Amino acid sequence: MEGIVCANCHSWLALDTSACPGCGCPVVLDGDGKNVIDRLQPDCLIHRYEGSDMLEPAVVLKEGKANVKAATKLQEYAQPVTVPKAKVYAFDQNLLGSIQALRNERTATIRRYDQQIQSHWHQLKPYKHS
Ligand SMILES: [Zn+2]
Repeated sequence: MEGIVCANCHSWLALDTSACPGCGCPVVLDGDGKNVIDRLQPDCLIHRYEGSDMLEPAVVLKEGKANVKAATKLQEYAQPVTVPKAKVYAFDQNLLGSIQALRNERTATIRRYDQQIQSHWHQLKPYKHS
């Protein structure tokens, strides 16, 4: 882990920070008074890239009328991504896992086809006038 997020103002902090430079709160790393976020606990899935079928687990930080600000990793708490509400889905680990597994399979299959096509290409002979 490279850093933590202030739970109060969402500033990105180095692990050895004693007080948050964003809001001035003394940093409490553990216990009841813990006021940092050190682990992303996704509560939604976002579809960020047009034309892609990739879903990313994320945390909703702010909900607007049309858009949602979300973080897909701790570093993004300070600079969240903006996603249209229609492209934010309820978190579902099973669906995410299934989609991800199929996406990986597809990538592996495409790579295999590319290699097979390449191996045929390598057998092509240069054209010679007879
Ligand atoms: Zn802070």
